[in-house]
Amino acid sequence: MDLKSKIRVIENFPKEGISFKDITTLIKDKDAFKKAVDLVVEDLKEKEVDYIVGPEARGFLFGAAVAYALEVGFIPVRKPGKLPGKTSSHEYELEYGTNTLEIHTDAIEKGKKVAIVDDLLATGGTMLSAAKLIESLGGEVVAMEFLIELESLGGRDKLGKYYINSLVQYE
Ligand code: IMP
Repeated sequence: MDLKSKIRVIENFPKEGISFKDITTLIKDKDAFKKAVDLVVEDLKEKEVDYIVGPEARGFLFGAAVAYALEVGFIPVRKPGKLPGKTSSHEYELEYGTNTLEIHTDAIEKGKKVAIVDDLLATGGTMLSAAKLIESLGGEVVAMEFLIELESLGGRDKLGKYYINSLVQYE
């Protein structure tokens, strides 16, 4: 099963010049979805993970499935104003403007081992922000798992000190 063949590429979405990797076609395919989740689970087996963190929104799709299979808890990282309890925030730079992510302040106990799961690594800004949130609560980021890595955007360098795994790569 070639996972890459299940990803649909849509040109000029959400804006001109962007070649969008659409994972809805992959998760619709039961064998491809299972394989993607199984490969991430396999990679995390020896890491003694306590929690999976998934960033909104596509990180929820894979992260929750991985957490279920690993038999650990799932913790969401969300856009501002979505989480009901007391939150910690982290703001990061985008090409134009900034983005903010939030996590429940009581979500992670000190010293817990956390793996972050998202659909796609581009510049790495989202992942780095999620990692900072986890670390600010005292958690340890032991792995970053991606379905897709866009290699030319340099995310892997930005996340240099962390363990990174991706299942499908594009230049
Ligand atoms: P980064 O922060 O620049 O690494 O961007 C990664 C985030 O943007 C992830 O949470 C992705 O869901 C989203 N993203 C960026 N490009 C794409 C794409 O082509 N397909 C799906 N999601 C994307």
